[in-house]
Amino acid sequence: MLATENLREADRLMTVCNACRYCEGLCAVFPAMEMRRTFNDGDLTYLANLCHQCGACLPDCQYAPPHQFDVNVPAALAKLRNDSYAAYAWPGFLAGAFTRNGLVVTALAALSVAGFIIGFVGFSDPSALWSAQAGDFYKVMPHEAMVALFGLVALYAVLAFAFSLRAFWRDIRSDGPRVGVIAFAQALADTFTLRYLGGGGGGCTSENEQPSARRRVYHHFTFYGFLLCFAATSVATLYHYGYGWYAPYAFTSLPVLLGIIGGIGLLVGPAGLFILARRRDHHLVDLARTGMDTAFIAMLFLTSLTGFLLMILRDSAAMGFLLSLHLGVVLGLFLSLPYGKFVHGLYRFLALVKYAAERRSPLTMSEIGI
Ligand code: SF4
Ligand code: SF4
Repeated sequence: MLATENLREADRLMTVCNACRYCEGLCAVFPAMEMRRTFNDGDLTYLANLCHQCGACLPDCQYAPPHQFDVNVPAALAKLRNDSYAAYAWPGFLAGAFTRNGLVVTALAALSVAGFIIGFVGFSDPSALWSAQAGDFYKVMPHEAMVALFGLVALYAVLAFAFSLRAFWRDIRSDGPRVGVIAFAQALADTFTLRYLGGGGGGCTSENEQPSARRRVYHHFTFYGFLLCFAATSVATLYHYGYGWYAPYAFTSLPVLLGIIGGIGLLVGPAGLFILARRRDHHLVDLARTGMDTAFIAMLFLTSLTGFLLMILRDSAAMGFLLSLHLGVVLGLFLSLPYGKFVHGLYRFLALVKYAAERRSPLTMSEIGI
């Protein structure tokens, strides 16, 4: 007996789809489903996280509502996927953060900004928020304090991800095939190209049931924007500790250029995803959890926006306030990473790793229940 209503619904739909198989060319979910005759909790969680919610399997389904079979795979897998984020949260008592995610993320960001404002004024310089500091962030907050704070938060996030991913992998892997180098490389390639946002060729289904490449494009902006901003921070850290070159860096320096390009990605991508989500057919999504999606893309957008404002106005008297705003948003984002939409990328990657391994090593007859 499957444990939840969403697991039972996913099991029912996968059983119908496994008899129909009309959608097998659309994405990885259907071929992975066809390797099984029955589905346990781990299988269904795996399939749910393999789904990129492109929506392509709903418009052409002959069993979609109002048919009595009531087949809506994108929505059913979205609900199950969102359940899985909470189920694997570490520590478990914080799983509720996924349920009221918009509120949690907003509170974290607001408290973080307030904390930096109080810290700058109380422990650094009472005039820190309205006096020009020649663009020197470290006059307002010592570099060591910044590294210690964000280092600790990043360490906690890595720890939380490690525990969550280990539990997720243990459940979805079951006694599946060993993951080799080629399978891992295939999963990486599928991730970096966002292959399964292709929706079988036409792209993701959006408003009026029309497929379009826009969702995939905005995902690319967001994904690579995030990576480039991470690279900018890494290069700046190398400059500081490796070469003794301290911020502020010139606009033409490598960390600033990487930050600018990545920042543009984090403005365009989240803004585009937000607009598309508002227009998207509501039948394709888990309406109860849209706050989680919105909170995450809003935090990415605000991280970039406050970063640009800080960079442009760093020599002005507004620098202290903008720094508190930017650092507060970034801290709020980091604190909420293990308990928000960010985790979908990690679980989806592991699902793609398992899929690539299965494709290279078809399951035995007994493994698929024959
Ligand atoms: S979604 Fe509909 S058309 Fe596609 S495989 Fe399932 S039942 Fe068949
Ligand atoms: S929504 Fe897209 S990715 Fe998900 S099962 Fe349907 S076709 Fe596959």
